Amino acid sequence: MAASILIIEDNLNNLALMDYLLQAFGYIPLQAQDGIAGLAMIRSEMPDLILCDIQLPLLDGFGIAKALKCDEKLSVIPLIAVTALAMVGDKEKILKAGFDGYITKPITPETFIGEVEKFLSTENLSRMNR
Ligand code: MN
Repeated sequence: MAASILIIEDNLNNLALMDYLLQAFGYIPLQAQDGIAGLAMIRSEMPDLILCDIQLPLLDGFGIAKALKCDEKLSVIPLIAVTALAMVGDKEKILKAGFDGYITKPITPETFIGEVEKFLSTENLSRMNR
């Protein structure tokens, strides 16, 4: 069974690009376009990994990280920030907030899947990449 990866992103171009790349490499992408919908989808779908923008409508990435951290079932899901925040200290702030990793925007199609797969367990890697 291919891993399901939830993308929480309000920029439709980024959302479409990540969705396309994940599908092309054998993963099952799920989508949410704001933080509240994202959190609801995490609870209902229990994805194998979450790719999360920081600046989101209704509830931002930090709010999502906070909500996951206090839920022992959800806190085990790898939570990766995908963000253009690039100021000194932003990465530390993101990791301190409970994110497991950080992918910088703009997304580089050539390296994106490799970066995502660093955070997937071996059994969740797609058959193409095991
Ligand atoms: Mn955004």
